Amino acid sequence: MNRNALIEILQQEGNLKHCFSHDEIERLAEHLSIETVQAETVLMKKGEPSCSMVFILDGLVQVIDGDRQLAIEKPGSIVGESLFSDEATRTADTRTIEQTTVGRFSVHDFEDLLNKNQPLALKFREYFRTITRARQQQKAAENYTDTRKYLALIAHNNMKESLMEFCGMHSRKLEKFPLMATGTTGSMLYKKTGLVLSKKVASGPLGGDQAVGTLISTRNIIGVIFFRDPLSPHPHHADIEALGRLCDVYQVPFATNPQSGEAILDYLLSGKSERESIPNHVLQTYIQGQTKVVEAG
Ligand code: PGA
Repeated sequence: MNRNALIEILQQEGNLKHCFSHDEIERLAEHLSIETVQAETVLMKKGEPSCSMVFILDGLVQVIDGDRQLAIEKPGSIVGESLFSDEATRTADTRTIEQTTVGRFSVHDFEDLLNKNQPLALKFREYFRTITRARQQQKAAENYTDTRKYLALIAHNNMKESLMEFCGMHSRKLEKFPLMATGTTGSMLYKKTGLVLSKKVASGPLGGDQAVGTLISTRNIIGVIFFRDPLSPHPHHADIEALGRLCDVYQVPFATNPQSGEAILDYLLSGKSERESIPNHVLQTYIQGQTKVVEAG
């Protein structure tokens, strides 16, 4: 690949053009050593020292950690920019998917650029550090696991007033829990009672009840207070049923009116649920059955 084509890729495909002039990119290109490698070549290995980064000029590259694909990188992308971060070693493997041409920029190339043009070298270093920070933040967000145990509050439209009244009466008890609610219930709650939510999901008929169900399956719900309207039909009847069913599967206390709501609050605040766990035969039997299914397969 000739220099002009190289500069063209760095300028057009990558984001460098937003921060660097044509001349500056040309200076960088002078320090890149071009390599063309076959498919399935390991360019960087997890755990190895981070002593160079590469610009993909042609082909496709896969970034993987164990059996998990983190990214597919195309021409113009930079891989291994952690060279300029505090991480001394690679945090993932980088492997070519097809024949690929890269421009490698090593720590020695950086030193060379530093000797020849210090302001430009430092400007590039700052740029690569910014990219590294952004990628680290993205990775942290992807790996974030919510370990909170929410108390879910939901009310059908005809029952919202009743739930607001209940929450107002028991606000001292309720504020001891991370609270979550479906869309409309959640919006009303702060307005009417001043209670602050830790999480709000979509409105019930738009998937909110299912979202609460998902959180039950990930063990993020310690109780559900759902004031259901017993006298009107609802388009999302199936979702409401499903939510109640999951409460039974996971033995999550489920209150559907103010009296049972109060009982749930007192039960949860007594700490009994943590001290004395009640065996869940439904779940245990099912899990054992499924283990046999996997073993038989
Ligand atoms: P909402 O949903 O809080 O958005 O009204 C509750 C429901 O109807 O399930």
